[in-house]
Amino acid sequence: MCGIVGYTGFQDAYDIVINGLRRLEYRGYDSAGIVLEDSANKFEVEKTKGKVDDLVNISKELKGRANIGMGHTRWATHGVPSDRNSHPHLSNNGKIAIVHNGIIENYDTIKTMLTEKGFTFQSETDTEVLVNLIQYFMDLNPEIDFPTAVRYALNEVYGAYAITVLHEDYPGVLVVGRLGSPLAIGIGDKEYFIASDASPFVEFTKEAIYLEEGHMATISLEQGVDIRTINDNSKIEPEIQKLKLSLEQIEKGGYEHFMLKEIFEQPKSVHDTMRGRLLVDEGVIKMAGIWDHVERFKNANRIIIIACGTSWHAGLIGEYLIEEYARIPVEVEYASEFRYRNPIITDKDVVIAISQSGETADTMAALKLAKEKGAFIYGICNVVDSSIARITDAGSYTHAGPEIGVASTKAFTAQLTILTLIAFKLGKHNGTLGNAEFMSLIAELDAIPKRIEEVLSSTHEQIQQISKDFVETTNFLYLGRGYNYPAALEGALKLKEISYIHAEGYPAAEMKHGPIALIDENMPIVIIAPKKGHYDKIVSNVQEIKARKGKIIAVVNKGDRQVSEMADYVIEIPETSECFSPIVASVPLQLLAYYIAVYRGANVDQPRNLAKSVTVE
Ligand code: GLU
Repeated sequence: MCGIVGYTGFQDAYDIVINGLRRLEYRGYDSAGIVLEDSANKFEVEKTKGKVDDLVNISKELKGRANIGMGHTRWATHGVPSDRNSHPHLSNNGKIAIVHNGIIENYDTIKTMLTEKGFTFQSETDTEVLVNLIQYFMDLNPEIDFPTAVRYALNEVYGAYAITVLHEDYPGVLVVGRLGSPLAIGIGDKEYFIASDASPFVEFTKEAIYLEEGHMATISLEQGVDIRTINDNSKIEPEIQKLKLSLEQIEKGGYEHFMLKEIFEQPKSVHDTMRGRLLVDEGVIKMAGIWDHVERFKNANRIIIIACGTSWHAGLIGEYLIEEYARIPVEVEYASEFRYRNPIITDKDVVIAISQSGETADTMAALKLAKEKGAFIYGICNVVDSSIARITDAGSYTHAGPEIGVASTKAFTAQLTILTLIAFKLGKHNGTLGNAEFMSLIAELDAIPKRIEEVLSSTHEQIQQISKDFVETTNFLYLGRGYNYPAALEGALKLKEISYIHAEGYPAAEMKHGPIALIDENMPIVIIAPKKGHYDKIVSNVQEIKARKGKIIAVVNKGDRQVSEMADYVIEIPETSECFSPIVASVPLQLLAYYIAVYRGANVDQPRNLAKSVTVE
């Protein structure tokens, strides 16, 4: 999530930080800020909601004032995008400044502790809690130095972070740390750079240290870079790498397209979606949005999920999940249809809107209609404080991080993760999901990021090979049953969107009511056939296709025999409970769409005629 830039050296820190933040703009953000240490070793801070240009408008006078400083582009996770919530944040005594990317999961507990000790907070962020925790340790132990206090504080927090911290009483010293969010240190000649990736400093130096997980570093011109482990302060020898990537390649994390980067980010993004919500050891799902209104959900006549495109597919899977585990009736509607068909909505209905951007015009209009009719409205969005997030009564952010590729990938799996959490949470509360099953399901959910990682590594090369055989194809069918029927719809949509090949998704059993007429030796059929979920029925469907010489690309569990023997191409995914299989099965389908599109020479990140955020009806 978002961007950090830091600098100490002989150049104008303002220019380096501002230009560096511009280089990180591609990552998506909603606010920007800067802090410099001036010649009197005092902080100069400017920050604002909006773009780096807005920051420049209010901070121009800082130009030429300092050789050390840091900046931040924020993508809000805790608290709306606002001037006040923007980074940097200062400690209560005004002496410590921090910029942070990521999420401090246990910020609430620490905030309560600090509040009891008399600390006050200006923002709603988790970040401000961390900077005050550093001050707390320094106040408590006057004998420890600033880097030690940062280390103490980091040992108390869990979650994900990349941070950079300055202290007025330690002029010229930058302390950085990382867990789960990236941070690179550029080594120049009498200057050091810090950034979320190398793009802000690649023109000044080709030498960089990529800070490892759980490491921190104290950086100053006098002492150089001192790297330590956060947990036990062991000294680490820095590993300096030579940068070979171009600026553009760095922005894409070394991937050829944002879409591929985002596909590969899914183990992390799904994990981030669950961060602070799924507490397996305690056997609980913490979701304030649901919990605060749990009776409203429990007593709902029905839940109506409204969405468009990929989010609508997530909604269909949500229907399976919520009906199966929470036993509340669910309907799923296209927002554009719902809003124009005079639907029956009462104040006993709960309407859930799903939208990555939170700005989808049709979904927004449908929500307004539902609200007018008295329904309780709930939002599932990726972008904090988006229009949908603002008008809903409650909601859950997906926290997948900014998605740049127009074709949604990681936002989709994050939506599925949220819907799964909601279904399990409501099921547990309603008594429709027994404790033993709940415990085993949440343990399995917790391991889903690992399953995604396995699929990515075991199928990536294979799918590149398979894709080459379909570059000239003009039609595709995608079939699945149960939970994987919507996964088939989503697989087909992905292919259409980016490769411009006509593709249709169908429930496998519906095939014989029409699409079977299309099957011949030129028709590839992607069939999702995991062990759990109507496997025997799927076997019959595959036989029907085989009898008509269709080309079968089967997504099956490891060790599968029956379907695999009939398939022309076999893609293996790990076995999971049925409700998780759409998350795991979607990953190879995303890769398949991606590589077919790449081999056809299509503009994968910005497919023709499509927009990332559909703000027209
Ligand atoms: N959790 C922090 C916030 O909401 C940092 C978000 C980010 O990565 O930009 O302010």
